[in-house]
Amino acid sequence: MSRSITILGATGSVGASTLDLIRRNRADWQVEALTANCSVNELAKLALEFDAKLAVVGDESHLPELRNALAGSGVEVDGGADALCAAAARPVDLTMAAIVGCAGLGPVMAAIERGGTVALANKEALVSAGEVMTAAVARHRATLLPVDSEHNAIFQCLTGNRLSDVSRITLTASGGPFREWNAEQLATATPAQAVAHPNWDMGAKISVDSATMMNKGLEYIEAHYLFPVGLDALRIIIHPQSVIHSMVEYRDGSTLAQLGPSDMRVPIASCLAWPQRMNTPLQPLDLAGIGNLSFFAPDETRFPATRLCRDAIAEGGAAPAVLNAANEVAVAAFLAGQIGFTRIPAMVEETLLRYSAPPPATLEDVLAVDGEARARAEQLLEHA
Ligand code: NDP
Repeated sequence: MSRSITILGATGSVGASTLDLIRRNRADWQVEALTANCSVNELAKLALEFDAKLAVVGDESHLPELRNALAGSGVEVDGGADALCAAAARPVDLTMAAIVGCAGLGPVMAAIERGGTVALANKEALVSAGEVMTAAVARHRATLLPVDSEHNAIFQCLTGNRLSDVSRITLTASGGPFREWNAEQLATATPAQAVAHPNWDMGAKISVDSATMMNKGLEYIEAHYLFPVGLDALRIIIHPQSVIHSMVEYRDGSTLAQLGPSDMRVPIASCLAWPQRMNTPLQPLDLAGIGNLSFFAPDETRFPATRLCRDAIAEGGAAPAVLNAANEVAVAAFLAGQIGFTRIPAMVEETLLRYSAPPPATLEDVLAVDGEARARAEQLLEHA
């Protein structure tokens, strides 16, 4: 029997990997809705190929173009932030949440409030809305399946075990393209260099986050919400080969690790097939060819982002949402050539120092904190 799926962020990197797996298993899936922000042609092409019932653009100004592109096809079209939430609220067996940034929060919450199964790639949504989202998951009996390769690895290593038996969770990090760069070199890093990740092929924003190590910091916060073992039991380790995707250590001294190729289709397949398994077109790991696996402690002097994230989640309340919003503004400014690479964590730190807010209790509170933190970060850009 086929299952239904909605893909939020279908035109992105995670969206493409998800659709690649669906394309190879066409009879197993019915596509309900596909969404994008402004990539109209790509969205229309995918909607036709996958026989989607609905196609939605987040940026409403592109709706007429989408309407034209899909005229006479029978695919419903819609546009705007509310339309994304309405698409996410339609009943399906699985929602792939792969919008980048806090822009995905409303749609993710809509899918959770329907009590659905949500494969969550959109880490910024969980970082910003932490307690609000996890409370909604419990209240609506929704299921969150982690797509991020590290969290998916942890999720797999936890299967059949009790969280209370975990003594430590280790998130591995490749260290990004600038792992061996010194402070002077980092100051000159360009957007093109930052998006050229050595092991993973990803969207621009997460690639920059990987280069600053903010990605690992966001993942630390994400892990705290997904696997509440306490902050002291979470650590980050640099593992340049990206073969071990994360590890769980138990109180008896056993450490379970998940290994696999550096291809998002592995964790995505784990979510699509959960709780079973499915085939992927990937070559098995060639461990003899890889030869060595190495591990290093992170250097928080050159890469302060993980420290900022640890401090933000230790402070709790609105701090992770402020951090995430400031980082989104800073990364966009870096990609636009407005600021240098090392200004990214500096802007995040300055925004955190200048703006604090009461702990958000609702989705609206989170969005208000996000909006205000963005405005504060943008002020820093004006005075740069
Ligand atoms: P991409 O930039 O490749 O794709 C982002 C998707 O979101 C696109 O479909 C884009 O549409 C859509 N989108 C962007 N802005 C908005 C908006 N304001 N409203 C609605 N839709 C929007 O990102 P990735 O696929 O790389 O990443 C997606 C998420 O998954 C991120 O949170 C990332 O951290 C996470 N992730 C990604 C991994 C990867 O390997 N790429 C690995 C682990 C996690 P459009 O094309 O029209 O701009």
